[in-house]
Amino acid sequence: MRDPLDNDCADQTVVSPFPGEGHDHQQCIDQALAEAERLCAARGRRLTPLRRRVLELIWDSHQPVKAYDLLARLQADSASAAPPTVYRALDFLMAERLVHRLASMNAYVGCGHPGHRHTGQFLICRGCRAVAEMDDPDIESLLDSRARDLGFALVDQTIELEGLCPRCRREHSAAGVAR
Ligand SMILES: [Zn+2]
Ligand SMILES: [Zn+2]
Ligand SMILES: [Zn+2]
Repeated sequence: MRDPLDNDCADQTVVSPFPGEGHDHQQCIDQALAEAERLCAARGRRLTPLRRRVLELIWDSHQPVKAYDLLARLQADSASAAPPTVYRALDFLMAERLVHRLASMNAYVGCGHPGHRHTGQFLICRGCRAVAEMDDPDIESLLDSRARDLGFALVDQTIELEGLCPRCRREHSAAGVAR
C-alpha cells in the first residue's frame, strides 16, 4: 500500500548523509519533530508528549540509541518511566516509520525521510557510530529478484553496512592507519 503522503522522490537515494563538520544539529532535531507532527496529524495518529520526547531523545545525535539509554533519559525527566512505556513509544514510532531499528546494534535511529515508504540501507561508522541512511530502489529490487530466484519471498530487507564515515577516515589516515 502506498502512503498517500509519499513524496515523489524515487531517484533520491540519500535519506540521511553523514553529518558534516559542525553542522547545525538543532536544525535536524527541529525538522524531524516538525515532520513527525505533520505526518501524525495527517495520518490521524497521536504524537503524545511522551512519544514526541522519545523521538527527540533518539534524534539527540546521529548515533543509534539503545532502549535502556532512552529509559534512563526518560527517568531523568520523570522517575515513574518504566520499560513498557519506552517500548510502546518505540513501537509507535516504528509503526509510523519515524525511526528505524538497527538489528546489528539493537538500537534506534531517527529516519531522515519518514514521509516516504522505504526499507533502508544503513551505513554504520565503527569509529564514531554515526549512521547514514540510503534508500536505493535498485539495490532493493536486485535483492528481491535474487531472493525470488531461490523461491524466497522477501518480507523485510534492512541492510546494515559497517565501515568508516568521512570524518573518521580522515582521522584514521592522519593517524597513519588508513587502509
Ligand atoms: Zn544533525
Ligand atoms: Zn528511513
Ligand atoms: Zn565516524
